[in-house]
Formats: sequence, C-alpha cells, structure tokens
Amino acid sequence: MKILLSNDDGYQAPGLLALHDALKDLAEVEVVAPEHNNSAKSNALTLHSPLYVHDAANGVRYVNGTPADCVHIALTGVLGYRPDLVVSGINNGANMGDDTIYSGTVGAAMEGFLFGIPAIAFSQVEKGWAHLDAAARRARELVRQVLAQGLDPERPFLLNVNIPNRRLEELGPFEVCRLGRRHAAEKVIAQPSPHGTTMYWIGGAGLPKDGADGTDFHATAQGRVSITPLHVDLTDHRGMPDWAARVGRFTEAQ
Ligand code: MN
Repeated sequence: MKILLSNDDGYQAPGLLALHDALKDLAEVEVVAPEHNNSAKSNALTLHSPLYVHDAANGVRYVNGTPADCVHIALTGVLGYRPDLVVSGINNGANMGDDTIYSGTVGAAMEGFLFGIPAIAFSQVEKGWAHLDAAARRARELVRQVLAQGLDPERPFLLNVNIPNRRLEELGPFEVCRLGRRHAAEKVIAQPSPHGTTMYWIGGAGLPKDGADGTDFHATAQGRVSITPLHVDLTDHRGMPDWAARVGRFTEAQ
C-alpha cells in the first residue's frame, strides 16, 4: 500500500509531520509538499516558471510550487509509481463550507482525485495546532479503516475531513455530513504602505451562515469529526432546464 502525502502549509508544518508519523506504519508514505505556505491556493498550477524538487533532511521532498503542483508532478513522473491513496494535511485551520473552494489542502487531495486516485483532506478546526496528536490519531484511524475495507480503483472518492481541536478522549465519533455555508468574507483591510500608496489585505472568512444540523460546522461544533464526500462537477443540474428554456426564448440577434 502506497500513500502520497502533501499539504498546503508547507513541508515543515507540524500538521504534515504529525500525519506522516501517524500514517507511516499503515503504508509506504512519500511526502511531496510545498516549500512555503500555500494556503488558499486552491487547485492552482504553476505553468510559467520551472518547478524544482528538493530532499529535506527529514526525508520529505519539497517543491517551490502549489499543493496541486506537488501532487501533479508526483503523479506524472516524480514518484515513478501510482500511489493507492493521496492524503493532504493536517491543515492549520478549518476547511468547511465555502472554504473548500479556496483550500489548498483540499486542492492537493482533489488533484489526486482528478487522476482517479482516492484522496482525503484533513484539517483541524482551529489554527494553532492544539491537540494535534489527537487529530493525527483520528486521521490515522480513518485511513486505516478505509484501507482495511479495500479501495476500489473504479470508484475513487474525495473526502474532506475536519477535526475539532480536542483531547482524544473528548473527540466525538466520525459524522458524514454536507458542507455548510459561510457569510461573505469580512471587509478588506486597507493600510498605508511605506511608499505612500494603499495596500490591501484580504479579510477573514465569514462566520457560518448555514451551520444547521447535518453540516460540517454543526458536527465539529459538537466535537465530532466531520467527513464530507466531495465531487468536482460544478454543474448546476437543477438550473439546467430553466436555462434551456430561457435560452430557447432568446430573441433574434440584433
Ligand atoms: Mn493551510
């Protein structure tokens, strides 16, 4: 069994190292991770500058690119084999609701899924790595169970997992749930730059807007570990008939 492990916080992030430690007796684990923090880089690929792979002293490899770059080049040549599972994380902070669109942690896992390989993205709900050991234990447990049930190469999956920052004994069970929604992000922060111009900082993510029972926000607020199966098809299937009718009513070009 072979696992490719990556993340978006960078190859030195405690969450990556803890997950590496937790998984390495379950499978052969190779790490290919970004050199620097690439949070919120989503599925970005680097197309206009070269990528370099370096070996770090701790046996992991790092790349001057994005999370998706790391998984992409690992799967298309760097590894030289096809891993059975792609794992990403553990991220420093939640990837729930709309976060999943921006998340580099999810982006790394999604890159594996796009290649037809089962993939799991792990995040801790709060930043700061509190109770990281417990999160790594629960991540390990999920991977162990999934491997024990067997991977069907015809049916790859993409799981988004969020783990509350709690001691192991205080962590609730796994709960399969849908993504919630956040309010629109907070206001941009404007500051004078040293050069007399204005610089802008992207504001924080919004608070939950839909954190109802059955969402990732709700499950993790209750101390449970949320598991949301994701797919990549962004088509608004319910909107298609309406749009077909509207396009049918378009008038002749003027
Ligand atoms: Mn991150």
